[in-house]
Amino acid sequence: MRSTPEPTENEPVKRVLLAAPRGYCAGVDRAVVTVEKALELYGPPVYVRKQIVHNKHVVTTLEKRGAIFVDETEQVPEGATVVFSAHGVAPVVHEEAQALSLKTIDATCPLVTKVHREAVRFANEDYDILLIGHEGHEEVIGTSGEAPEHITLVDGPEDVANVTVRDPEKVVWLSQTTLSVDETLETVRLLRERFPAMQDPPSDDICYATQNRQLAVKQMAADCDLMIVVGSRNSSNSVRLVEVALEHGARAGHLVDYAEEIDESWLDGVATVGVTSGASVPEVLVRGVLDFLGERGYADVRPVVAAEESLVFSLPNEIRRDLKAAGMSDKMTHDGSFVASGSLH
Ligand code: SF4
Repeated sequence: MRSTPEPTENEPVKRVLLAAPRGYCAGVDRAVVTVEKALELYGPPVYVRKQIVHNKHVVTTLEKRGAIFVDETEQVPEGATVVFSAHGVAPVVHEEAQALSLKTIDATCPLVTKVHREAVRFANEDYDILLIGHEGHEEVIGTSGEAPEHITLVDGPEDVANVTVRDPEKVVWLSQTTLSVDETLETVRLLRERFPAMQDPPSDDICYATQNRQLAVKQMAADCDLMIVVGSRNSSNSVRLVEVALEHGARAGHLVDYAEEIDESWLDGVATVGVTSGASVPEVLVRGVLDFLGERGYADVRPVVAAEESLVFSLPNEIRRDLKAAGMSDKMTHDGSFVASGSLH
C-alpha cells in the first residue's frame, strides 16, 4: 500500500468528480438477485442463457457460486432451470425452452419488455417499425424477434439512407434502451427527413438509467482531464458513457473492468479525473478505482449529482411464487454477496 504523495508546488491540485447516478440500475439489480435467489432456492447448477448482465465481474462471481452461462437454449440439459438475461429474448427462445421442458425464469428488464410490447402492438397494426439499435446486440435480437417481418434495424445515423419502408405514412420508430440519447435524436431527425409522417414511440425507449448516467457525465465532462468509466466492453451503456464524455469535453476517456487496468501514464499531468460506471457495474469496482486514485494523490472526491433514483422492480413472478412456497423472502434483497452490492449514489 503506497502512501498518499504530497502535491508539489507546480503540481496541479488533484481531485475526482464522481458521477451520480452511476452503477446498477433497477433492471440489472433485479436480474442479479434473481440468479442469486435461484441458486439459493434450487441449488446449483442454475443455467443462465447469455450473460445475465454485461459485466465480467458479475458473471465470474456468479459462475463461482454455481451459475452456468450458455449461449443457446439447446445447451441446457432437458428439465433444468434456466434464467433468461436482463436483455430479453425473442418468443422463439421461449418455444425452444418449452420443447426441452425447461423451467424458465425470465429476468428480462421490465423496461425492455415494454419495448417488446410496443413492437407487438405496432406490428399488429401493420406498421413498419424502424428499430434504432446496434446490430447483433442481444436486446435488439430479442426485440426484433417479436415481429421480424415488420422490424427494420437502423444502426445509427449513417444507416438511415439504406432504410426502405412499404408505406411512408405508416412508420414508427422504437429503440434499444441503452443508446446515446444525442445520437439517437440525430438518427430520428434524419429518419424524419425521409419519412415526415413517422410516429414516435408512446414513451421514451432509452431507459431512465441510461439517460441519467449520460446526464451526469455531460455535467462534469468539460471539467475532466480524464474520464474513467468502469464497465465491460460488451456493455452498450458503458461504452456510450465514454463516447458521451469525449463528445462533451473530457480530454481523454477510458473504459476499464477493474482498477488494475488503469494505465499509470493516463494520469500524467491530470488534475481532474471523472469517475462513473455503467448500469451493470457493482459499486465495489468503483471503490477499487477510487482507492487506486486515492493512493496516487486523488483523494479529494466530489460528487456530481444529476438525478435521484429510487426505482426498484419486484422479482420475476416465477421465482417469487417458488420462494413464497418455500417460505423464503421474495423481496428484492441481497444475500450479502458482493456481486449485488450495487449503489446508485
Ligand atoms: S439499463 Fe435500463 S433497460 Fe437495461 S436493465 Fe437497466 S433499467 Fe433495464
